[in-house]
Amino acid sequence: MDIHKVGVIGAGQMGNGIAHVMALAGYDVALNDIDQDALDTAIARIEKNMARQVGRDQITEEAMQTAMARIRTTLDVAEVGDCDLVIESATENEAVKNKIIEGLIPHLRPETIVTSNTSSISITRLAARTDRPEKFMGFHFMNPVPLMKLVELIRGIATDEETYKTCLGVVERLDKTAASAEDFPAFIVNRILIPMINEACYTLYEGVGNVRSIDQAMKLGANHPMGPLELADFIGLDTCLAIMNVLHDGLADTKYRPCPLMTKYVEAGWLGKKAGRGFYDYRGETPVPTR
Ligand code: NAD
Repeated sequence: MDIHKVGVIGAGQMGNGIAHVMALAGYDVALNDIDQDALDTAIARIEKNMARQVGRDQITEEAMQTAMARIRTTLDVAEVGDCDLVIESATENEAVKNKIIEGLIPHLRPETIVTSNTSSISITRLAARTDRPEKFMGFHFMNPVPLMKLVELIRGIATDEETYKTCLGVVERLDKTAASAEDFPAFIVNRILIPMINEACYTLYEGVGNVRSIDQAMKLGANHPMGPLELADFIGLDTCLAIMNVLHDGLADTKYRPCPLMTKYVEAGWLGKKAGRGFYDYRGETPVPTR
């Protein structure tokens, strides 16, 4: 199936990155959110990030202008109706995603492929909420989308081969690499990564180290490019907590219990970089550890 127009639902940190790479790859993009501020911020961010790419000679000024002109924003999900492929990338909450799917489906053509950028929620369960489980799958980008090469493609139990091959074609056109994952909680990357971040929170909670020493230990001691707490702030602590809850509920193993300190930070609204504060405080010139 040929894809020309891509709908992106949710214009947060992932949604704007997805719109960015899709538009640069030549797809027309309809970017939808319930919040006008999120749409405005997304366009400003895409513009800034593309301008940086122009500055580094990675893309031409003309390619940037053409790509920006391909992105349309809308508060009305009905305007995503004429897309060939939809990527749902709203808040990591199953009730939110179910509501989006319910509102979206009546506007779509029967052949439209619907996907979710969920980090952890069951693709089969989300697919069952649609009228087209065979045309539904997981399309999981990594953050930041323009830089990260991997996309996890997750087939639900009903996903057909044509849908998988079409999505694989899109990943290749984005000049990214796909990894196939089975539909089990958190798939591959987050099944491994988020419990490590959760363990870093326990290490902090139990006073084994402070924010700086934990991050430094993993950067210099395990050669990780970012420390786990810095990375948690970058991903968003609400997203990390949601993924831990999905692992805990879905695999019913106490080794996945979310760290109470992570829960506390989320309760405080200290969600990480996007909120200005998380394990670090980003409101000044340089990030300052909060513990
Ligand atoms: P975010 O909080 O930055 O953005 C979520 C956006 O969804 C917000 O702009 C919000 O207004 C919007 N939204 C909420 N309800 C909506 C609705 N009913 N209709 C339309 N828009 C709605 O979150 P994010 O980090 O961009 O995460 C989005 C998705 O991507 C989640 O499923 C998350 O698990 C997944 N993901 C996140 C990362 C990461 O590192 N943050 C990586 C890969 C995948």
